[in-house]
Amino acid sequence: MPTEELRRQVVIIGSGPAGLTAAIYTARANLNPLLIDAPADTDRQTTPGGQLMITTDVENYPGFAKGIDGPALMMEFRKQAERFGTEFLEEWITRVELQARPFTLHTENRVVKAETLIIASGASAKWLGVPGEAKTPQGFGGNGVSACATCDGPLPAFRNKRLVVVGGGDTAMEEATFLTRYASRVYVAHRRDKLRASKIMQDKALRNEKIEFLWNTELAEILGTHEQGVTGVRLRDTTNGAERNFDCEGVFIAIGHKPNTELFKGQIGMDGVGYLKTNGHSTATNIPGVFACGDVQDSVYRQAITAAGTGCMSAIDAERFLDHLPVEMPSGEEITMEGEHITADRKLIIEPTGEVISNEPVFE
Ligand code: NAP
Repeated sequence: MPTEELRRQVVIIGSGPAGLTAAIYTARANLNPLLIDAPADTDRQTTPGGQLMITTDVENYPGFAKGIDGPALMMEFRKQAERFGTEFLEEWITRVELQARPFTLHTENRVVKAETLIIASGASAKWLGVPGEAKTPQGFGGNGVSACATCDGPLPAFRNKRLVVVGGGDTAMEEATFLTRYASRVYVAHRRDKLRASKIMQDKALRNEKIEFLWNTELAEILGTHEQGVTGVRLRDTTNGAERNFDCEGVFIAIGHKPNTELFKGQIGMDGVGYLKTNGHSTATNIPGVFACGDVQDSVYRQAITAAGTGCMSAIDAERFLDHLPVEMPSGEEITMEGEHITADRKLIIEPTGEVISNEPVFE
C-alpha cells in the first residue's frame, strides 16, 4: 500500500530531453520540480533518459561541434537539472487521476499530488520482436540494428554498406531515402505489395536508384556475430512462407513509433494513434494545468532539439499557470488557475461562478 504522500507545484513525467529541459526551467524558477521516470527495464523497453540513451553519436544537437554520445548528452541535461534542485524519483506510475487539481499520481510506493503536470513520457520505436533484434549482447541492437536512421545512419558502421529497412510507411520511406546518402544500397523489405506511405514519399523512394524494394517480404531473423555485427538477415516470403538468407551489414526497423500514453487513456485528449493533443501555440492539453512536450505530443519532428524546445515551452506554460496567468487551451480559449475562461475571440471572461464579463479594453 502506498504510504508516503508528496506534494509539488510541478511534477514532470519523463527524463528525456523534453522532461529534463522542463526540469531545468522550472527548477531555475524555484518551483522545486519532482521528475518521475520509469526504472530501466529491458523487457518493458524503458530507459531513463529516453531514446537518446540507445543512440551513439549525436551530431545534430547544437552546441556540440564535435558531436556527443547520446547517454553523455543526457547525463549533462540531468546534471544541469540537478544543479538547480530538481528532485528525481525512479518509480512506475500505476495510475493517474486528472479530474481535479491537485492531480493525483499513484506510484508503487507513493501518492504524489501535483498542482501542474508536465507529461514528457516520450515515444518508443516499435520493434518486430524477431531473433537478433534485441540490444547487445542478447542481439545486435546498437551493433548493426537501429530504429533511427537520423541518429545512427551517418555512423561509420553503416557507410558504404548494404542496409535493409523494414516497413512500408512514411517513416520507412524517409529512413530509406536518408540512408542512401551513406549506404552503398538500401533494400526496403515490406510485408505487402503496396506501400502505406504518402504518395510524395513513395514517389521519392521509388525514384531513388539506390533503393530496391523487396515486396511481400518479412524479416524473420537478424544474423551476425558479436565481432562483426550484422552479416545478413533471414527473409520470409509472405505469399508462400519460403525463406532465404540475404547479405547485409545493417538493419533499420522503421515500422512506426508508439507514444507512451497508456496511462492517460480516457483522461487527456489524444489523436487516433495516441499522441497527446496540445495547442499549437502552447503545450496545454485539454486539461487546465496539464502540459505535454516532446515526442509524446509530436509525431512529426521527433528530434532531441525540438523535444528540448517544447520542454522549455511547457515549463514556461506551467509557470504562467501557477502565476495565475491565462494559458491558451487547444480549443483556443484561455484559462486561468482559478478556472476563469477567456473566450477564443478574447472578448469575454467567464468566471468560475458562470458570471460573464467583458474582456474588451475600457476607454474613458
Ligand atoms: P505507419 O504509417 O503506421 O506505417 C508502419 C509501416 O510498418 C506499415 O507499412 C506497416 O505495414 C509496417 N509494419 C507495422 N508493423 C509491422 C510488422 N510487425 N511487421 C512488418 N511490417 C510492419 O507508421 P509510420 O511510417 O511511422 O508513420 C506514422 C505517422 O507519422 C504517419 O501518419 C506518417 O504519415 C507520419 N510520418 C510523417 C513523416 C513525414 O511527413 N515526413 C515521416 C514519418 C512519419 P502495413 O502497411 O502492411 O500495415
